[in-house]
Amino acid sequence: MPLRHIAIIGSGPAGYYTAEAAQKAFGENVLIDVFDCLPVPYGLIRSGVAPDHQSIKGVSRRFEATAQSENVRFVGNVRVGRDVTIPELRGLYDAVVLATGAPNDRPLDLPGEQLGNVFGSAAFVGWYNGHPEFAGLDPDLSAKTAVVIGMGNVALDVVRILSKTEAEFAGSDIVAHALERLRKSRIERIVILGRRGPHQIMMTPKELGELAHLMRASPRVDPADLPEEGEDALLEPGLRKSVVHLRSFAAIPEEMHADKPIEVEFDFFAQPNALFGEEGVEGIEVEKTEVSAGKATATGETYTIPAGLVISCIGYRTSPIPDVPFDERAGKFANDEGRILPGLYAVGWARRGPSGTIGTNRPDGFDVADKIAEDIAAGVLGPGGKPGGSGFDVIAARRELDVVSFADWKKIEQAEEQAAREGAPREKFVDVEAMIKARGL
Ligand SMILES: Cc1cc2nc3c(=O)[nH]c(=O)nc-3n(C[C@H](O)[C@H](O)[C@H](O)COP(=O)(O)OP(=O)(O)OC[C@H]3O[C@@H](n4cnc5c(N)ncnc54)[C@H](O)[C@@H]3O)c2cc1C
Repeated sequence: MPLRHIAIIGSGPAGYYTAEAAQKAFGENVLIDVFDCLPVPYGLIRSGVAPDHQSIKGVSRRFEATAQSENVRFVGNVRVGRDVTIPELRGLYDAVVLATGAPNDRPLDLPGEQLGNVFGSAAFVGWYNGHPEFAGLDPDLSAKTAVVIGMGNVALDVVRILSKTEAEFAGSDIVAHALERLRKSRIERIVILGRRGPHQIMMTPKELGELAHLMRASPRVDPADLPEEGEDALLEPGLRKSVVHLRSFAAIPEEMHADKPIEVEFDFFAQPNALFGEEGVEGIEVEKTEVSAGKATATGETYTIPAGLVISCIGYRTSPIPDVPFDERAGKFANDEGRILPGLYAVGWARRGPSGTIGTNRPDGFDVADKIAEDIAAGVLGPGGKPGGSGFDVIAARRELDVVSFADWKKIEQAEEQAAREGAPREKFVDVEAMIKARGL
């Protein structure tokens, strides 16, 4: 079997699960280059997963083993589509696998969305997690009320980060600029807005349950919003557990709410219609909905919530890359179960859209390795003999690309660990220049 060359674009979970699967499928007969536009690996494990959920970030240790094996290279600080094109990579490698995730916020498409202090969760989460693109976001946390739109786990992350005291961030890797800003936050009320009801939330029980244990925030659910308890029996078990949490929030006595200075209020059956304000957002107009067979319909009854910060957590879109067919409606690469064009594939959020956990991306990796093997057997990928990474190195030298290797990343990581405040695992570099400098070249 001739040596095959695979380029994986994106070093998040989907990228490294694919590298792992390709190693299993092709053994010593494969060389794999994992590209990333950042000088640091692991995608949303580093820049999405909440900084106070360190145990989840631990999965990167598994990817490190793959990244350090002999036939896998990390090619950091190279943006595919800008620094090197897809046709160039398809010419050099037998297979190119897009694992670029879904880094752009899905827009609200509402009047007033462009007002100041209105953010999508990719930007806001990127800010507190130190993603270089969003480190300079500078959110204003001086208003009393914040509105978080969406009822999934990302909304819960955002609410928790806005609610926690400095002491509750001990052991987290929240970046210094965010900790500093949160320390001065004046937020007293966080409204979580959802178009549908308690039986339609996308929040998982463990994450929802955490709201009951915050030092200075208390979750509030209006008992009138809850369906008859007997109807919970029809829910799938995970959702049923989440609804049990909502019922317990509804039962919290008033005097216990009074002990905590931040109120986290679930506003069900409420669809945002418009945001208003002069320069910065000052409030949001909301319309009540009715839900029938899981679908929300607006009722015409409106009210306003004064708010100086709005964060929408309503999903993400993949960034298009030149020469790759794109499904505009779905916001991801156009693909047929992972196949895009001969020798060009997609995995993870770039393939399926933004849903599921880290582990949900694993089967994509095995599936694409199978498809590459099938396509090799069917002669679709040619006889082999392409240059692979050595061909890319020629392009990189000609274009003077400053490629960051995995050994470089380990130096950056070490510098981040050395800079950590007491009890924290690391203090992340939040701009690309600082990362590159820390590599010490
Ligand atoms: C806020 C948030 C919190 C989450 N929390 C959890 C959690 O607690 N537990 C859990 O299991 N899951 C969680 N998830 C889900 C999990 O992060 C995703 O399932 C997973 O990261 C998707 O993997 P991916 O590899 O497809 O994309 P990503 O992780 O986004 O990786 C994509 C990679 O591609 C790179 N890239 C993009 N474009 C280019 C380009 N043109 N050239 C080169 N490189 C490029 C990016 O820099 C990035 O490194 C969370 C998601 C979000 C958004």
